[in-house]
Amino acid sequence: MKRIFFIFIVLGFSLTICSQDKAKYVFYIIGDGMGLNQINGTEMYLAELDGKIGVNPLLFTQFPVVGLARTFSASSGVTDSAAAGTALATGSKTKNGTIGLDSTLVNPVYSVAVKAKNKGKKVGIVTSCGLDDATPAAFYAHQPKRNMHYEIALDAITSDFDFFGGATFTKPETRYDGSKGPNVYLQMEEKGYVLAYGYDDYKKKTPYANKMILMERKEADLYDLMYAIDRDKTNLSLAQITEAAIEQLTRDNSDGFFLMIEGGTIDMACHANDAATAIAEVIDLNESVKIAYDFYQNHPEETLIIVTADHETGGMVLGTGASQLNLKVLQHQTISQNALSSKIVELRKQKDNKVSWEDIKSLLSETMGLWSEVPMSDLEEKLIYEAFDDTFVKGNLTKEKSLYQEDEKISVIARNILNKKALVSWTSRNHSAGFAPVFALGVGAELFNHMMDNTCIPNIITEVAGY
Ligand SMILES: [Zn+2]
Repeated sequence: MKRIFFIFIVLGFSLTICSQDKAKYVFYIIGDGMGLNQINGTEMYLAELDGKIGVNPLLFTQFPVVGLARTFSASSGVTDSAAAGTALATGSKTKNGTIGLDSTLVNPVYSVAVKAKNKGKKVGIVTSCGLDDATPAAFYAHQPKRNMHYEIALDAITSDFDFFGGATFTKPETRYDGSKGPNVYLQMEEKGYVLAYGYDDYKKKTPYANKMILMERKEADLYDLMYAIDRDKTNLSLAQITEAAIEQLTRDNSDGFFLMIEGGTIDMACHANDAATAIAEVIDLNESVKIAYDFYQNHPEETLIIVTADHETGGMVLGTGASQLNLKVLQHQTISQNALSSKIVELRKQKDNKVSWEDIKSLLSETMGLWSEVPMSDLEEKLIYEAFDDTFVKGNLTKEKSLYQEDEKISVIARNILNKKALVSWTSRNHSAGFAPVFALGVGAELFNHMMDNTCIPNIITEVAGY
């Protein structure tokens, strides 16, 4: 009996060894704030547009393996993106606000991306937010505070990773203590990184770039990529960056790669409780998943794709009491609440503050479908009129604040009315402790088929990829 047991152990061990070298290519895709309802809501919204009740599934929910991850941090039942990013990157719980250090805030913990790099893999970090934002930073930086942006950018240089793609580095010359430091972009160039700004510049520079940092055009002046719902052709998209990353990481490289892709702006839309914008962001992340899936189809025996979330944001609820949903009404919102707010500010300038009620009605009709596509009750009209009266007649310029945005009251109320008509509500302006979904496809995917802690995910990747 003992001998048989021993044989099983040896067999099991050698099977583990066999599977170890197979995940030569790893895609680790994280929807920031993409809880279960953000996904379910998006799929039901797409079905409603097709005139049916049910779902039009996104690509990643059709992956063969599904698990659930707990997300609490070392300091709170509700995590922030720094602690969640550190857990997902390194397998260590830490306190909220902390990047790549354990819960003592002293000892560095190293990410699955660093382990991949040490094994000779090329490594890429992609995000729709700033490259020094918490989730991407957790894969390469070690700082006690997530807003130590300058110090985090220096850690990016030290990492020597092969590709970074995102909006920007937000504090290239200003240390956390406010003092001026040597420009991080110059240091990046000295270290051999080619800096590309926007897609056209990327195309020009990629043929000769060994290591690259791809960011949004300087003139766009953005800390995060433009929301998918607001983007025009001049803006860089997460899908473009994903394609660029694969192109860079596979050139002259037969050793494989590790690529982290974050849909970071889902979280921002959910902090603003902006359902239409959040749904467009989930659909946009799915476009990057499609690109990873195309790669998988060409390398099915060597590729692992994980799609997960760091936490839920907003406490998004589908259905507000009447056992009904009307998600399709959100299709009439064609810009984000934040972009609508900017349009109201522009209008104020254009009309030298003499904005009429008719101007506001026509703007809200054009951008949110109010009155034109979406019938308005007297009470709803009154709510917007009161905000108009307060803002433009009485001249009260106080804005509505959420974590990442400050918006005109009128735009917040208009978005709120549309959410109510969709029967979507939000219980929070911050994160919630709901389970994060884990979808897996490819080599080793079956190991994600269970209830797990978020810290398990990088540990399983490390095993499957043989880091
Ligand atoms: Zn957040």
